[in-house]
Amino acid sequence: MREKLVAGNWKMNGNLKESVSLLNALVTDISTIGSNTSYAVCVPYPYLAVAQSTLKNTTIKWGAQNVSQHESGAFTGEVSAIMLNDFECTYVIVGHSERRMLFGESNQVVAEKYLAAQKAGLVPILCVGETLEQRDSDITEQVIYEQLNTVMTVAGVDSFRNAVIAYEPVWAIGTGKTATPQQAQDIHHFIRQSIVKQNAEVASGLTILYGGSVKANNAAELFAMPDIDGGLIGGASLIAEEFIAICSAI
Ligand code: PGA
Repeated sequence: MREKLVAGNWKMNGNLKESVSLLNALVTDISTIGSNTSYAVCVPYPYLAVAQSTLKNTTIKWGAQNVSQHESGAFTGEVSAIMLNDFECTYVIVGHSERRMLFGESNQVVAEKYLAAQKAGLVPILCVGETLEQRDSDITEQVIYEQLNTVMTVAGVDSFRNAVIAYEPVWAIGTGKTATPQQAQDIHHFIRQSIVKQNAEVASGLTILYGGSVKANNAAELFAMPDIDGGLIGGASLIAEEFIAICSAI
């Protein structure tokens, strides 16, 4: 049985006060759900310390939204995987489409970040997904295969034993346009099959999340699909009741 996971991606939102109250609300409410699913929040770097202290003795895990591919050195403004370990992060998101598009992260850089995270014992949440233009040009599978294959080349297929993949169609992120459950399932199946070709056992154990405008009112039908093992939640993870409702939908 593969692990199910609902992870919040707070992006660059909130302030310290809001972060503390959101974390506290999650602690109070998630403890009442009780299932075999993992829950996590990926917070901005400055709030990792408060996530660590608030969530330490709870079932909620925490992580970051980005990491440097380098171990240390003259990389002004960057944060290493070792530093994330100091805050006892479980997860780190790598290759989010906003990083790829706004900060020019190539497949190769994303794969190096993934490897750096794993070397430090973190579980990377590797984001893959196509733009609307790529979907319209019928190259979705090719784009996603290249994103996955670069990681397999750099880190090996066995690395997926300690990783999570998030399929996030770029056209669905923050737009209110969710992929239909079938559209998402088709790509999740494609992702799993791409890994089956290299190692069927690794593929069957791999947690694949869907992300892109997941809300309380569409989460259950997405999570019901056979290859969708949970969600990566952006906007809706900033509202405690909404995030809890999504967590309860799995
Ligand atoms: P969204 O973002 O839920 O706000 O669409 C998802 C994500 O970017 O991870």
